[in-house]
Amino acid sequence: MREKSHNLRGKVYIRTFGCQMNEYDTLKLLKLLEGDYEAAGTPDEADLIVINTCSVREKPEHKVYSLLGEIGALKAKKPGLIVGVGGCVAQQEGEKLASGRNGADFVFGTHNISLVPHLVRNVKEGRGAQIAIDYRDGWEELPLGFGEGSRVSVYVAISRGCNKNCSFCIVPRTRGPEVSRDPEEILREIRILAARGAKEVILLGQTVNSYGRDLKPRLSFVGLMERIAGIDGIERIRFTSPHPQEVRDDLIAFMAECGKVCKHIHMPLQSGSDKVLKLMNRNYRVGRFLQIIDQLRDRIPDIAISTDLIVGFPGESKADFEMTLDVMDRVRFSSSYSFAFSPRPGTKAAEMKDVVPQEEKASRLKILQSRQMDHTSAFLEGWIGKDVEILIDGSSASDTNILRGRTSQNTVVNLDRPYADLREGMIVSVRIIGKAKNTLKGALVI
Ligand code: SF4
Repeated sequence: MREKSHNLRGKVYIRTFGCQMNEYDTLKLLKLLEGDYEAAGTPDEADLIVINTCSVREKPEHKVYSLLGEIGALKAKKPGLIVGVGGCVAQQEGEKLASGRNGADFVFGTHNISLVPHLVRNVKEGRGAQIAIDYRDGWEELPLGFGEGSRVSVYVAISRGCNKNCSFCIVPRTRGPEVSRDPEEILREIRILAARGAKEVILLGQTVNSYGRDLKPRLSFVGLMERIAGIDGIERIRFTSPHPQEVRDDLIAFMAECGKVCKHIHMPLQSGSDKVLKLMNRNYRVGRFLQIIDQLRDRIPDIAISTDLIVGFPGESKADFEMTLDVMDRVRFSSSYSFAFSPRPGTKAAEMKDVVPQEEKASRLKILQSRQMDHTSAFLEGWIGKDVEILIDGSSASDTNILRGRTSQNTVVNLDRPYADLREGMIVSVRIIGKAKNTLKGALVI
C-alpha cells in the first residue's frame, strides 16, 4: 500500500503537448482534481505528474517514453509520486506505457478524463497500474466552467472527434468519430464563464464548423454561434479549426454581420497541389479553397487568414511544392503552422511510397517558412498607423508590467508602456506604432 498523504491537498504538475484541445483537456483535468490537488509550478514539487500527450507531431511516443525515464529518476527520490499518461499517445499505446521500470501508474484515453480521480485513488490504494482507454459514445460531461480564476479568454469544446479521415492524421483513431456536445450544456458553461469575467470564447472542435449534424433536432454551427452571441458579457467569439470544405455562405455571412465574431479564420490548406490534396484525402481542391478566400475577403475586407501546411508529403514533387508557395503568395496568410511530413503509424500516409528524402523536406520547409515570414511581416506592417481595438488578456512576455492584448484579427499587441487604469478584460483602442517578428506594438488612444 502507498502511504496516504495527511496534507490537505497534494500538488499536481501537468505537462501538455499539442493542440488547443489538449490544453482544454488539461484545464478539465485540473478542475476534476482540484479537491485533492493544487497546481505545482515544477515537476519536482509534484505528488502527481500527468503527461497529456499528442500524437500529431514529431515522434511523440519517443518523447513520452523519454519523459517517463526522467520522471523515473524523480520517483526514485520520492517513492509516493504518482505518474499518469493521457491523450492521443495513451489512446494508441495503452498498457505498454504502464510496463517496464519507468512505466506510468495510470494511463487514460481521450474519452476517459472523468475517470482520472478514480484512477489516482486506486493507485494510492495499491491496486496496481490502472488503464482506462475505452471509447465511449456520446459526450463525456465534465465540470462546467473550468479554468482557473477569472480568465478573460476561454476555450469551450463544442465537438470531439472527426469524420474526415485525412490520410496523414491519427485523430479519427485516437479521438473517434465526431460527436457534437449538447448546445444547452455549451451555453450553460459559457454563461458561467461570462459571469466569472470571460469576455472572449474560443470554440474548439477538430472540424469545428461541422458542429451539430448529429444533434436531434439539428442545430448548425452558425445557429449555435447566434445563441452564444446573445450571452451577456461575451464580447468576442473565435473558433478553431474550421474545415475548408464546410466553410459555407451562412458562416461567411454570419462572420460579416455579427459584430462579436472575430475577423480571423484559420483555414488549413495543407498543400497547394490538387494531386497532393487528393493523396491527403482532403476533400477540397485549390480552386475551391481560393474561392472561399475570395468570398471571405469580399464580405470581410480586413479579415486575417492563417493556415496549416505540410511539406514533403509522399509523392510531393518540386512542382507540387512550388504550387503551395504560389497559393501562399496569392492568399498571403497572416501566419501559418508548417511541418515537414512525418508518418504516424496506423495512418494511410505511413504506408505510402514515393517518400521525399529528409534533407529535401527540411530544405522545402525552410523555404516555405521564410516565405511565410515575409508575408507575416507585410501583414504586420499593414497595421502600422491604424487604430484598432484590443482585448487586454495578459502581460507582455518581456515585461510583466506591460499589458498585452489581441486584435480581432488575433494579432498580439504589446502596449508601449504600463497604463495605470488598464486591466485584463478591457477592450481599448490603440494606435499601432511598431512591430516585432510576430507581434505589434501599440499606444493607447486617449
Ligand atoms: S480534418 Fe483531417 S487533419 Fe483535421 S482532425 Fe480530421 S482527419 Fe485530422
